[in-house]
Amino acid sequence: MSASIESVIVVGASAAGISCVRQLRKGGFAGSITLIDKDENGAYERPPLSKQVLMAPATTAQDILLIEAAELDELNVTSLYGNALVELKSQSREVVLASGETLSADAIVLATGGEARRLPIEGADLPEVLVLRHYADAVKLREIVKPGAKVAVIGGGFIGAETAASLAKLDVQVEWLDAAPLPLAHLLPEALCEELVKHHLDAGVKLTTNCRISKFTNEGDAAVTIEFTNGDTLEADAIVLGVGMLPQMPFITDDASKELLLSSAGGITVDETLATRIPGIYAAGDVAAVTQTDSTTTRHEHWQSAQHQGEVVAATILGSEAPEEPTHWFWSDQGDLHIEMAGHMLPQSEYLIKREEGDWPVYFSVKDNRMVGAVSVNNPNAVRVALRMIKNNVNAEPEKLADPAVSLRAQMRG
Ligand SMILES: Cc1cc2nc3c(=O)[nH]c(=O)nc-3n(C[C@H](O)[C@H](O)[C@H](O)COP(=O)(O)OP(=O)(O)OC[C@H]3O[C@@H](n4cnc5c(N)ncnc54)[C@H](O)[C@@H]3O)c2cc1C
Repeated sequence: MSASIESVIVVGASAAGISCVRQLRKGGFAGSITLIDKDENGAYERPPLSKQVLMAPATTAQDILLIEAAELDELNVTSLYGNALVELKSQSREVVLASGETLSADAIVLATGGEARRLPIEGADLPEVLVLRHYADAVKLREIVKPGAKVAVIGGGFIGAETAASLAKLDVQVEWLDAAPLPLAHLLPEALCEELVKHHLDAGVKLTTNCRISKFTNEGDAAVTIEFTNGDTLEADAIVLGVGMLPQMPFITDDASKELLLSSAGGITVDETLATRIPGIYAAGDVAAVTQTDSTTTRHEHWQSAQHQGEVVAATILGSEAPEEPTHWFWSDQGDLHIEMAGHMLPQSEYLIKREEGDWPVYFSVKDNRMVGAVSVNNPNAVRVALRMIKNNVNAEPEKLADPAVSLRAQMRG
């Protein structure tokens, strides 16, 4: 462990920040740890916001806690919730908080994630136009969505699909709007997206694709009206935007820090150890734009990656070996459907293998007899096997994978 590190400030009490705090103590760090978050609800899981927090309206922030107060006490972590970092003085390693306090530490971890993106059109900040990033956002939506209400969900990605499916379970009239011709198709194999969309339509969701929205207004009889560029209109009680997120770093204000910390790709520039170019300043999770040794930059927006990066940044601060990078894995719950993905699905159809198994097919991406990706619906075991096959780089035979008579487990050893 670096002898000079006696204090660490972690800004952001979510997947990356909490895993960093846990790993610092696990790695033997005995100095002070201060955990800061602008959200007064503190450390809770974000994924349930578009799922059980909507579907089970009695769910409280306490039910989705990421870390209990008792564990924070045990780890001897000082938590300051409901207090935002407003200015980072990076050279002196100080944080100025909204409360007016200034704190300093030997190491500062920026795990500030992102905020939901709003469309750059008139009316995008009307009170009836909601987003889902914080617990309070989900509560606001829950208050509006009484049975029979009409809600327009904009965005054909995972959050749009999850929100549309969750609201449909509540007997809400859901109008799902996507700019693309087929929702989810930028993320999953097209054939699977078609089946998923059909499932959502059967569950009562109404979908409009290829939408071009020009503005939102709240001046008519309806709570809010969407105006499309072709002149059509759609009235609703609320709109939920699921159109991506923007990494958060407004606290980087001075020119020198901006130059060294901000990535042209969005986010905070770090190397593979998650260190920035300013000694003692680190970033992890959705906000971290990681430049690899081959000079490519990646910024992930997944729970598993944020959690892993929290562990990596702790190891960097401690001067210990970084934990092994897990095979990429992601899940999405859309109403009754539990989707899991391992590795990366290649867009080329020649690498796509379909396996008919149970109610939903499993899709694999196999290139040069090596599995690189898999996606399943309500079949987590298939993805468990795929994770092993990808990690161990075993021989994967497309014909056997496609054949439901050949057990997947039998193929795990290649
Ligand atoms: C609705 C929703 C559903 C999701 N579902 C899934 C899913 O099913 N599967 C999956 O893999 N991923 C999912 N994700 C993505 C996953 O939740 C994120 O990748 C993960 O939370 C990122 O963690 P993070 O710690 O990097 O940042 P965040 O979770 O964004 O947390 C950042 C924290 O920093 C705090 N913060 C920001 N700025 C400041 C400041 N200036 N001062 C103090 N505190 C600050 C914020 O309040 C926040 O608590 C979902 C995300 C959302 C929003």
